[in-house]
Amino acid sequence: MEIRVDLLDSSEQPQWHRLLPDLSLPAIVTNRPAWEGGASTDPEPQRLSVLIEAVRQGVSHVDVELKAASEFAELCRASSIPFPLQNTKLILSHHDFENPLSADRVSDLMEQMRRAGANICKIAMMAKSALDNMVVFDALAGANGDAIVLAMGDLGQVSRIIAPKFGAYLTFASVAQGVESAPGQVDIATLLKMYRFRSISRDTPLYGVIGDPVSHSMSPAVHNAAMDLVGAKGAYVPLRVKDDFALFVREILSHGFEGLSVTIPGKVPVIEAMDEMDDVARQIGAMNTVVKSTDGRLKGYNTDWVAAISAVEEKFDNGLKDKRVVCVGAGGAGRALAFGALARGASHVTIINRSENKAIALAKDLGERASGSSLQAFNDNLGGHYEYDVLMNSTSVGMHPNEDNCPIEPERLIEGIVVFDAVYNPLRTKLIQEAEKRGCVTVSGLEMFVRQAAEQFRLWFPEFDPPVSTMREVVLKRLGA
Ligand code: NAP
Repeated sequence: MEIRVDLLDSSEQPQWHRLLPDLSLPAIVTNRPAWEGGASTDPEPQRLSVLIEAVRQGVSHVDVELKAASEFAELCRASSIPFPLQNTKLILSHHDFENPLSADRVSDLMEQMRRAGANICKIAMMAKSALDNMVVFDALAGANGDAIVLAMGDLGQVSRIIAPKFGAYLTFASVAQGVESAPGQVDIATLLKMYRFRSISRDTPLYGVIGDPVSHSMSPAVHNAAMDLVGAKGAYVPLRVKDDFALFVREILSHGFEGLSVTIPGKVPVIEAMDEMDDVARQIGAMNTVVKSTDGRLKGYNTDWVAAISAVEEKFDNGLKDKRVVCVGAGGAGRALAFGALARGASHVTIINRSENKAIALAKDLGERASGSSLQAFNDNLGGHYEYDVLMNSTSVGMHPNEDNCPIEPERLIEGIVVFDAVYNPLRTKLIQEAEKRGCVTVSGLEMFVRQAAEQFRLWFPEFDPPVSTMREVVLKRLGA
């Protein structure tokens, strides 16, 4: 437990030590000055006297800023407290709330801290890029357990979560959401339950989702629950990455990560970092899964298409073989579904899109078994040639909060066909409801989400069957269903 004396109300500050008897944990007492990003504006002797008092009370740790280290040592001696301290561990700290630090600067600061009598060196810096985490990991790995190094902000949050992987002395978490004492802190409950913090040690294989945003991704909850259930060793964390995807992937996979999920906007740029690509992922031109083999080679897969297509195939005796498929939408998901359908033997794929030029361009990439047309022409049944067995929506039409919208004219739905909607919030979209009314067989976007995760799990942990029903329950719970 850290007691941030400077963050207590001014009326409580003189009585901070009354908290001590109630603590069931070792305590760090900190009284951070405004000049180091804290709230204390007291004159230095008065500010540091709080820490002298803490040492007298026998607290297990005090945190003193490196810049105040010599004044603190003098005050100790003047107060007849032996320095180096005997029963209290001295954390010497340095914070940069504006910028990341270079590896050289970090090692120089640690050297100064040790010379000034630190038992534990603490360095916190602001991350400006996800790559700044590598400086943290390397500094911790070289420090033999007597260092706390972390990157602040969303881009550095992972450095707080996986700190034990690199032997950090400790990490900081907030007691609850909304009362963080530094940018990027995770609350204790999330750290322990969602990210399985206690299961992380130096030999824990790590997995994660990269992209921007990732803070609301359901993947950490789904994969951690799955690992927990089957007893797979590992932890899965969110990694916010804004740019330099290919470089980031190579770096993070040489820092203890074994596999990654990739979300928007990383699905195309990460390809550059792969040694090998799965055939269909290469054709699609986008991937969502990185697998690291035992020899360190990186292979890219796209489990989005397998997920949606396998759920649709189950509705037929013979899968998609010789089926006529209409794909509504020509974005990233549409591209994956269309290539997937052809890879599984569909006889023809018709791309229908609001912007006709994109439908035609995608159809051209797909080859001779595909054609492209405008959404308007499909809705108006122009040409009257729209006979099909499967309709797959990959537009965002109908997604919360626009639940009343349907991507196509419901009249175009044919009784008995299979209708898939990639949208899963709400679970029963307008399209799914209209399809049910007309006697179609329906497949929800939930299946795609759950199965793309299950397929990733299978690629990373071939020795386990993915616990699909648990994964589905986690998603349903998070969707409030
Ligand atoms: P994207 O690349 O941005 O493509 C969006 C597509 O939706 C384009 O074809 C776009 O048409 C069309 N569109 C958007 N607004 C429209 C409107 N008002 N009317 C008609 N068409 C419209 O996005 P994406 O990555 O393919 O994702 C598309 C959807 O699939 C999202 O809702 C996403 O949540 C969902 N998805 C679900 C899963 C899953 O696991 N269930 C996985 C991936 C994606 P234009 O070309 O004319 O703009």
